[in-house]
Amino acid sequence: MENRYPRLEVNLKHLKENVVEVVERCGKMGVQVAGVIKGATGLSEVIKTFDEGGAAFIASSRLEQIEEAVALGIEKPMMLIRIPMLSEISEVIRLCEYSLNSELQVIKALNEEAKAQGKLHKVILMADLGDLREGYWDKEELVNVAEYIENKLINIQLVGVGTNVGCYGSILPTNEKLEELVQVAEAVEKRIGRELEYIAGGATSSLMRIWEGKIPDRVNLLRVGEGILLARDLEEYYGHKTEPLHKDIFRLKAEVIEVKDKPTHPVGEIGVDAFGHKPEYLDRGIRRRALLAMGKVDYGSPNELIPMEKEIEILGASSDHTIIDVQDSEKDYKVGDIMEFDVCYATMVYLTSCKNVNIAYI
Ligand SMILES: *Cc1c(COP(=O)(O)O)cnc(C)c1O
Repeated sequence: MENRYPRLEVNLKHLKENVVEVVERCGKMGVQVAGVIKGATGLSEVIKTFDEGGAAFIASSRLEQIEEAVALGIEKPMMLIRIPMLSEISEVIRLCEYSLNSELQVIKALNEEAKAQGKLHKVILMADLGDLREGYWDKEELVNVAEYIENKLINIQLVGVGTNVGCYGSILPTNEKLEELVQVAEAVEKRIGRELEYIAGGATSSLMRIWEGKIPDRVNLLRVGEGILLARDLEEYYGHKTEPLHKDIFRLKAEVIEVKDKPTHPVGEIGVDAFGHKPEYLDRGIRRRALLAMGKVDYGSPNELIPMEKEIEILGASSDHTIIDVQDSEKDYKVGDIMEFDVCYATMVYLTSCKNVNIAYI
Protein backbone atom coordinates (compact mmCIF):
# COMPACT_ATOMS: atom_id res chain seq x y z
CA MET A 1 0.00 0.00 0.00
CA GLU A 2 3.09 2.24 -0.27
CA ASN A 3 1.79 4.04 -3.35
CA ARG A 4 -1.65 4.47 -1.89
CA TYR A 5 -3.68 7.58 -2.71
CA PRO A 6 -4.70 10.12 -1.56
CA ARG A 7 -1.11 10.89 -0.75
CA LEU A 8 0.33 13.89 1.04
CA GLU A 9 3.96 14.41 0.09
CA VAL A 10 6.08 16.25 2.61
CA ASN A 11 9.39 17.71 1.48
CA LEU A 12 11.52 17.43 4.60
CA LYS A 13 14.56 19.10 3.02
CA HIS A 14 12.56 22.23 2.30
CA LEU A 15 10.94 22.06 5.71
CA LYS A 16 14.35 21.93 7.36
CA GLU A 17 15.53 24.89 5.27
CA ASN A 18 12.47 26.88 6.34
CA VAL A 19 13.07 26.12 10.01
CA VAL A 20 16.72 27.13 9.68
CA GLU A 21 15.85 30.35 7.82
CA VAL A 22 13.22 31.45 10.35
CA VAL A 23 15.43 30.52 13.31
CA GLU A 24 18.40 32.42 11.82
CA ARG A 25 16.46 35.57 10.92
CA CYS A 26 14.81 35.63 14.33
CA GLY A 27 18.11 34.86 16.02
CA LYS A 28 19.76 37.89 14.41
CA MET A 29 17.11 40.03 16.08
CA GLY A 30 17.50 38.35 19.46
CA VAL A 31 14.30 36.31 19.08
CA GLN A 32 13.98 32.61 19.87
CA VAL A 33 11.57 30.39 17.97
CA ALA A 34 9.13 27.90 19.45
CA GLY A 35 8.37 25.48 16.62
CA VAL A 36 4.60 24.93 16.56
CA ILE A 37 3.83 21.41 15.32
CA LYS A 38 0.02 21.42 15.49
CA GLY A 39 -0.48 22.46 11.85
CA ALA A 40 0.94 19.10 10.81
CA THR A 41 -0.81 17.25 13.67
CA GLY A 42 2.55 16.53 15.27
CA LEU A 43 3.82 14.15 12.57
CA SER A 44 6.99 12.68 13.99
CA GLU A 45 9.16 13.59 10.98
CA VAL A 46 7.94 17.16 11.22
CA ILE A 47 8.75 17.26 14.95
CA LYS A 48 12.26 15.95 14.29
CA THR A 49 12.81 18.49 11.53
CA PHE A 50 11.73 21.40 13.75
CA ASP A 51 14.19 20.10 16.33
CA GLU A 52 17.08 19.62 13.87
CA GLY A 53 16.44 23.01 12.27
CA GLY A 54 17.11 24.71 15.58
CA ALA A 55 13.75 25.59 17.11
CA ALA A 56 14.41 26.45 20.76
CA PHE A 57 11.14 24.87 21.94
CA ILE A 58 8.69 22.32 20.58
CA ALA A 59 5.20 23.73 20.98
CA SER A 60 1.65 22.51 20.47
CA SER A 61 -1.89 23.10 21.57
CA ARG A 62 -2.33 19.32 21.99
CA LEU A 63 -0.71 17.14 24.61
CA GLU A 64 -0.94 14.04 22.39
CA GLN A 65 1.48 15.74 19.99
CA ILE A 66 3.81 16.81 22.76
CA GLU A 67 3.75 13.26 24.08
CA GLU A 68 4.87 12.11 20.62
CA ALA A 69 7.77 14.59 20.71
CA VAL A 70 8.80 13.37 24.17
CA ALA A 71 8.58 9.75 22.99
CA LEU A 72 10.89 10.61 20.06
CA GLY A 73 13.51 11.59 22.61
CA ILE A 74 13.53 15.28 21.61
CA GLU A 75 15.45 17.13 24.29
CA LYS A 76 14.16 20.65 23.61
CA PRO A 77 11.78 22.03 26.21
CA MET A 78 8.12 21.34 25.44
CA MET A 79 5.60 24.18 25.50
CA LEU A 80 1.83 23.84 25.73
CA ILE A 81 0.40 26.84 23.87
CA ARG A 82 -3.27 26.33 24.60
CA ILE A 83 -4.40 27.25 28.10
CA PRO A 84 -4.34 23.92 30.01
CA MET A 85 -7.60 22.15 30.77
CA LEU A 86 -8.07 21.39 34.48
CA SER A 87 -8.64 17.78 33.43
CA GLU A 88 -5.14 17.48 31.91
CA ILE A 89 -3.02 19.12 34.61
CA SER A 90 -1.06 16.02 35.60
CA GLU A 91 -0.14 15.34 31.96
CA VAL A 92 0.84 18.97 31.44
CA ILE A 93 3.30 18.72 34.31
CA ARG A 94 4.56 15.32 33.21
CA LEU A 95 5.17 16.36 29.57
CA CYS A 96 5.74 20.12 29.42
CA GLU A 97 8.32 22.38 30.94
CA TYR A 98 6.38 25.48 29.81
CA SER A 99 2.75 26.47 29.38
CA LEU A 100 0.83 29.59 28.42
CA ASN A 101 -1.74 30.60 31.03
CA SER A 102 -4.57 33.01 31.78
CA GLU A 103 -6.41 31.56 34.80
CA LEU A 104 -5.10 31.62 38.38
CA GLN A 105 -7.21 28.58 39.24
CA VAL A 106 -5.35 26.59 36.59
CA ILE A 107 -1.96 27.94 37.64
CA LYS A 108 -2.66 26.93 41.25
CA ALA A 109 -3.59 23.44 40.07
CA LEU A 110 -0.34 23.30 38.05
CA ASN A 111 1.53 24.30 41.20
CA GLU A 112 -0.05 21.53 43.29
CA GLU A 113 0.68 18.93 40.63
CA ALA A 114 4.24 20.17 40.06
CA LYS A 115 4.80 19.83 43.80
CA ALA A 116 3.43 16.28 43.72
CA GLN A 117 5.70 15.37 40.80
CA GLY A 118 8.69 17.18 42.31
CA LYS A 119 8.99 19.60 39.39
CA LEU A 120 9.28 23.29 38.64
CA HIS A 121 6.84 24.33 35.92
CA LYS A 122 7.42 27.49 33.89
CA VAL A 123 4.56 29.78 33.01
CA ILE A 124 4.05 32.56 30.50
CA LEU A 125 1.08 34.80 31.34
CA MET A 126 -1.02 35.77 28.34
CA ALA A 127 -2.19 39.34 27.82
CA ASP A 128 -5.16 39.94 25.50
CA LEU A 129 -4.31 43.00 23.44
CA GLY A 130 -7.53 43.02 21.45
CA ASP A 131 -7.65 39.76 19.51
CA LEU A 132 -10.16 38.57 22.13
CA ARG A 133 -9.21 34.92 22.34
CA GLU A 134 -7.12 33.92 25.37
CA GLY A 135 -5.39 36.17 27.86
CA TYR A 136 -5.99 38.80 30.55
CA TRP A 137 -7.97 41.74 29.29
CA ASP A 138 -7.58 43.46 32.65
CA LYS A 139 -3.82 44.11 32.82
CA GLU A 140 -3.99 44.99 36.51
CA GLU A 141 -5.34 41.48 37.11
CA LEU A 142 -2.41 40.04 35.13
CA VAL A 143 0.08 41.98 37.25
CA ASN A 144 -1.64 40.82 40.46
CA VAL A 145 -1.53 37.19 39.32
CA ALA A 146 2.15 37.60 38.43
CA GLU A 147 2.83 38.87 41.93
CA TYR A 148 0.85 36.00 43.45
CA ILE A 149 2.85 33.42 41.47
CA GLU A 150 6.10 35.10 42.39
CA ASN A 151 5.37 35.14 46.12
CA LYS A 152 3.07 32.23 46.78
CA LEU A 153 3.56 29.42 44.27
CA ILE A 154 6.77 27.54 45.02
CA ASN A 155 6.61 25.10 42.10
CA ILE A 156 5.66 27.64 39.44
CA GLN A 157 8.23 29.91 37.88
CA LEU A 158 6.92 32.97 36.10
CA VAL A 159 9.19 33.31 33.04
CA GLY A 160 7.38 35.84 30.91
CA VAL A 161 4.35 37.41 29.34
CA GLY A 162 2.98 36.77 25.89
CA THR A 163 0.17 37.58 23.58
CA ASN A 164 -1.72 36.09 20.69
CA VAL A 165 -2.97 38.12 17.77
CA GLY A 166 -4.47 37.45 14.36
CA CYS A 167 -6.54 34.46 15.44
CA TYR A 168 -10.07 35.49 16.39
CA GLY A 169 -10.08 39.26 16.20
CA SER A 170 -7.75 39.48 13.18
CA ILE A 171 -5.55 41.97 15.01
CA LEU A 172 -2.15 42.70 13.47
CA PRO A 173 1.13 42.53 15.41
CA THR A 174 2.12 46.10 14.66
CA ASN A 175 5.09 47.49 16.51
CA GLU A 176 2.63 49.57 18.56
CA LYS A 177 0.81 46.39 19.65
CA LEU A 178 4.08 44.71 20.52
CA GLU A 179 5.17 47.79 22.47
CA GLU A 180 1.93 47.48 24.44
CA LEU A 181 3.01 43.94 25.34
CA VAL A 182 6.41 45.19 26.44
CA GLN A 183 4.65 47.72 28.67
CA VAL A 184 2.61 44.93 30.29
CA ALA A 185 5.84 43.00 30.88
CA GLU A 186 7.47 46.06 32.40
CA ALA A 187 4.50 46.60 34.72
CA VAL A 188 4.97 43.01 35.91
CA GLU A 189 8.71 43.53 36.33
CA LYS A 190 8.15 46.66 38.37
CA ARG A 191 5.79 44.77 40.69
CA ILE A 192 7.94 41.67 41.18
CA GLY A 193 11.25 43.51 41.19
CA ARG A 194 13.11 41.48 38.59
CA GLU A 195 13.41 41.07 34.85
CA LEU A 196 11.31 38.54 32.96
CA GLU A 197 13.11 36.08 30.75
CA TYR A 198 10.62 36.09 27.87
CA ILE A 199 8.34 38.47 26.06
CA ALA A 200 6.47 36.30 23.58
CA GLY A 201 5.19 38.46 20.76
CA GLY A 202 2.85 36.22 18.85
CA ALA A 203 2.98 33.75 15.98
CA THR A 204 3.58 33.65 12.23
CA SER A 205 2.06 37.08 11.65
CA SER A 206 4.85 38.60 13.76
CA LEU A 207 7.37 37.30 11.21
CA MET A 208 6.41 40.36 9.15
CA ARG A 209 8.28 42.44 11.72
CA ILE A 210 11.29 40.10 11.55
CA TRP A 211 11.45 40.25 7.75
CA GLU A 212 11.19 44.06 7.93
CA GLY A 213 14.01 44.05 10.44
CA LYS A 214 12.09 45.99 13.05
CA ILE A 215 10.58 44.55 16.22
CA PRO A 216 10.63 45.99 19.75
CA ASP A 217 13.97 45.13 21.35
CA ARG A 218 12.55 43.24 24.27
CA VAL A 219 10.35 40.87 22.26
CA ASN A 220 12.46 37.73 22.29
CA LEU A 221 10.19 34.75 21.61
CA LEU A 222 7.80 33.88 18.77
CA ARG A 223 5.71 30.73 18.34
CA VAL A 224 5.78 29.84 14.66
CA GLY A 225 3.86 27.15 12.79
CA GLU A 226 2.28 28.21 9.49
CA GLY A 227 5.14 30.51 8.54
CA ILE A 228 7.48 27.53 8.52
CA LEU A 229 5.16 24.76 7.32
CA LEU A 230 3.35 26.56 4.48
CA ALA A 231 4.70 30.13 4.42
CA ARG A 232 1.57 31.10 2.46
CA ASP A 233 -0.54 33.32 4.68
CA LEU A 234 1.61 36.45 4.94
CA GLU A 235 1.88 36.76 1.18
CA GLU A 236 -1.68 35.62 0.49
CA TYR A 237 -3.36 37.92 3.00
CA TYR A 238 -0.95 40.83 3.39
CA GLY A 239 1.10 40.74 0.19
CA HIS A 240 4.08 40.42 2.51
CA LYS A 241 6.87 38.41 0.88
CA THR A 242 8.86 36.03 3.04
CA GLU A 243 11.59 35.11 0.59
CA PRO A 244 13.42 32.75 0.51
CA LEU A 245 11.01 30.49 2.41
CA HIS A 246 9.78 27.43 0.49
CA LYS A 247 6.06 27.23 -0.26
CA ASP A 248 6.03 23.71 -1.64
CA ILE A 249 6.54 21.56 1.44
CA PHE A 250 3.12 19.89 1.21
CA ARG A 251 1.64 18.50 -2.01
CA LEU A 252 -1.57 16.50 -2.15
CA LYS A 253 -1.97 13.85 -4.84
CA ALA A 254 -5.22 12.08 -5.70
CA GLU A 255 -6.19 9.48 -8.26
CA VAL A 256 -8.78 9.83 -11.02
CA ILE A 257 -11.37 7.02 -10.95
CA GLU A 258 -13.82 8.23 -13.60
CA VAL A 259 -13.73 10.63 -16.57
CA LYS A 260 -16.98 11.44 -18.38
CA ASP A 261 -18.91 14.14 -20.20
CA LYS A 262 -21.93 15.01 -18.07
CA PRO A 263 -24.52 17.76 -17.65
CA THR A 264 -23.46 20.53 -15.25
CA HIS A 265 -26.94 20.82 -13.73
CA PRO A 266 -28.28 17.86 -11.73
CA VAL A 267 -31.09 16.04 -13.49
CA GLY A 268 -34.32 15.43 -11.53
CA GLU A 269 -36.06 16.98 -8.56
CA ILE A 270 -33.52 18.79 -6.33
CA GLY A 271 -33.40 17.77 -2.65
CA VAL A 272 -30.31 18.10 -0.45
CA ASP A 273 -26.68 16.99 -0.97
CA ALA A 274 -24.74 14.43 1.13
CA PHE A 275 -24.40 16.99 3.92
CA GLY A 276 -27.99 18.22 4.01
CA HIS A 277 -27.21 21.44 2.10
CA LYS A 278 -29.05 22.87 -0.89
CA PRO A 279 -26.33 24.16 -3.20
CA GLU A 280 -26.96 26.25 -6.33
CA TYR A 281 -26.01 24.59 -9.59
CA LEU A 282 -25.09 26.62 -12.66
CA ASP A 283 -26.17 25.09 -15.98
CA ARG A 284 -23.20 25.28 -18.35
CA GLY A 285 -24.32 22.45 -20.60
CA ILE A 286 -22.40 19.24 -21.05
CA ARG A 287 -18.79 19.37 -19.80
CA ARG A 288 -15.98 16.92 -19.17
CA ARG A 289 -15.43 16.03 -15.56
CA ALA A 290 -13.04 13.83 -13.61
CA LEU A 291 -13.89 12.08 -10.37
CA LEU A 292 -11.19 11.78 -7.70
CA ALA A 293 -10.95 9.10 -5.03
CA MET A 294 -10.72 11.50 -2.10
CA GLY A 295 -13.29 13.63 -0.36
CA LYS A 296 -14.23 15.82 2.56
CA VAL A 297 -13.28 13.08 5.02
CA ASP A 298 -9.68 13.49 3.89
CA TYR A 299 -9.27 17.26 3.57
CA GLY A 300 -12.28 19.09 5.01
CA SER A 301 -13.48 21.67 2.49
CA PRO A 302 -13.02 21.33 -1.30
CA ASN A 303 -13.07 25.14 -1.59
CA GLU A 304 -9.72 25.27 0.15
CA LEU A 305 -7.90 22.90 -2.18
CA ILE A 306 -5.58 24.65 -4.60
CA PRO A 307 -5.18 22.78 -7.92
CA MET A 308 -1.66 22.93 -9.33
CA GLU A 309 -3.17 23.04 -12.82
CA LYS A 310 -4.88 26.40 -13.29
CA GLU A 311 -7.30 25.26 -16.03
CA ILE A 312 -9.22 22.81 -13.88
CA GLU A 313 -12.02 23.72 -11.48
CA ILE A 314 -13.21 22.00 -8.32
CA LEU A 315 -16.98 21.56 -8.61
CA GLY A 316 -17.74 19.91 -5.33
CA ALA A 317 -17.22 16.93 -3.09
CA SER A 318 -18.87 14.38 -0.88
CA SER A 319 -17.23 12.30 1.87
CA ASP A 320 -15.04 10.19 -0.41
CA HIS A 321 -15.29 11.82 -3.84
CA THR A 322 -14.17 15.08 -5.40
CA ILE A 323 -15.60 16.28 -8.71
CA ILE A 324 -13.35 18.28 -11.02
CA ASP A 325 -14.26 20.13 -14.23
CA VAL A 326 -11.46 19.29 -16.69
CA GLN A 327 -13.17 20.62 -19.85
CA ASP A 328 -10.63 23.43 -20.31
CA SER A 329 -7.56 21.38 -19.40
CA GLU A 330 -4.78 20.94 -21.95
CA LYS A 331 -4.40 17.46 -20.56
CA ASP A 332 -6.52 14.53 -21.69
CA TYR A 333 -7.33 13.09 -18.27
CA LYS A 334 -7.72 9.34 -18.00
CA VAL A 335 -8.66 6.92 -15.26
CA GLY A 336 -5.58 6.26 -13.12
CA ASP A 337 -4.08 9.73 -13.65
CA ILE A 338 -2.88 11.66 -10.63
CA MET A 339 -4.01 15.18 -9.88
CA GLU A 340 -1.94 17.47 -7.69
CA PHE A 341 -2.96 20.17 -5.20
CA ASP A 342 -1.32 22.73 -2.99
CA VAL A 343 -2.85 23.05 0.48
CA CYS A 344 -3.77 25.78 2.93
CA TYR A 345 -3.63 25.56 6.72
CA ALA A 346 -6.98 23.90 7.45
CA THR A 347 -6.46 21.39 4.66
CA MET A 348 -3.01 20.52 6.02
CA VAL A 349 -4.49 19.91 9.47
CA TYR A 350 -7.20 17.61 8.09
CA LEU A 351 -4.85 15.68 5.80
CA THR A 352 -2.21 15.07 8.44
CA SER A 353 -4.77 13.85 10.95
CA CYS A 354 -6.69 11.59 8.56
CA LYS A 355 -5.70 7.94 8.64
CA ASN A 356 -6.93 7.43 5.05
CA VAL A 357 -4.21 9.74 3.78
CA ASN A 358 -0.83 8.25 2.93
CA ILE A 359 1.89 10.57 4.24
CA ALA A 360 5.00 10.24 2.07
CA TYR A 361 8.27 11.98 2.92
CA ILE A 362 10.31 13.04 -0.06
C1 LIG B 1 -1.45 27.99 16.80
C2 LIG B 1 -0.78 28.94 17.71
C3 LIG B 1 0.45 29.51 17.32
C4 LIG B 1 1.09 29.27 15.99
O1 LIG B 1 0.40 29.97 14.99
P1 LIG B 1 0.92 30.06 13.50
O2 LIG B 1 0.08 31.12 12.90
O3 LIG B 1 0.71 28.72 12.89
O4 LIG B 1 2.35 30.42 13.55
C5 LIG B 1 1.08 30.35 18.23
N1 LIG B 1 0.53 30.61 19.44
C6 LIG B 1 -0.63 30.10 19.83
C7 LIG B 1 -1.16 30.43 21.17
C8 LIG B 1 -1.34 29.24 18.98
O5 LIG B 1 -2.50 28.73 19.38
